[in-house]
Amino acid sequence: MVNLGETDLPLGTGVPGVYLSPPGFERVIDLLRSGVAALAADEPFQRLVIPPVISRQTIERAGYVQAFPNLLGTVHGYGGTPSGWARLKPLVEEGGEWYAQQQIGDLVLLPAACYPVYATLADRTLDEPAKVSVEASCFRQEATSEPGRLRSFRMLELVTVATDEDCLKWRAARLEQVEGWFTELGLAVSVEVADDPFFGPGRKVYQAAQRMQELKWELRVPLADGTVQAVASANYHKEHFGETFGITAGGAPAHTSCVAFGLERLAMALINRHGKDSTRWPGDVLAALGGAR
Ligand code: 5GP
Ligand code: ZN
Repeated sequence: MVNLGETDLPLGTGVPGVYLSPPGFERVIDLLRSGVAALAADEPFQRLVIPPVISRQTIERAGYVQAFPNLLGTVHGYGGTPSGWARLKPLVEEGGEWYAQQQIGDLVLLPAACYPVYATLADRTLDEPAKVSVEASCFRQEATSEPGRLRSFRMLELVTVATDEDCLKWRAARLEQVEGWFTELGLAVSVEVADDPFFGPGRKVYQAAQRMQELKWELRVPLADGTVQAVASANYHKEHFGETFGITAGGAPAHTSCVAFGLERLAMALINRHGKDSTRWPGDVLAALGGAR
């Protein structure tokens, strides 16, 4: 077998922020999945596995482009019609036919796991809260690549679509629960009100409003020596998605909340704290990860 070297930690691929995940690291990701499933067992979440692409129209409707034009990865395709092998060489040369004829398509790379859920619930009237748990590979065109900042990473989310009161109560309870869970996992967690790295016009107003209304809480933990990163966030979007997608709850546009876990960052934090070999982690840590051993 070809020796890939240090096989328990993610392997670089030659481009920043994109890694291959070896078995030891993947075992930790699986433990995290079972840990989140145990946390979420008190509610009937419908579990959906989400593809790594989403309709461009959906993401535009959701306002993502105005907010984060720099982070969105778009899917382009060749729009020309090569008429034979002779044209292939100029096709793939920089500035050649293949580059010149790229056209934006109807898909973009998914930037967060919960967006497809809101589009799927479009035009529905909910008699009871919708509870969905999702996992997806997400992509963000990050400008930097410090430890824990990946461009391609997996996100696991618990999502509630309901009335304002239900969403706020739910998020507060889950935030407290997740903070307690991270403490059980031995992670030194801090919970901080945050804003999204909004780049569009009106940035300052948007970020200040987001902070003032406490729409986003981040749970931050150490990932490596001298590096603390957000490993999860608890978000309340008010009626933004309900209005955009025509979802109704309690006779008004539905409100939405989500709790998002960054699986790679969490795995890095646990490995940083307890070591690479998850089979030797303390029993109470393994118990907090769904009892799996
Ligand atoms: P948010 O939507 O709050 O920015 O992201 C939700 C979670 O996804 C974050 O708390 C974090 O755990 C994870 N995440 C966000 N950006 C990155 C990134 O660049 N790399 C990695 N590995 N995870 C990220
Ligand atoms: Zn979300």
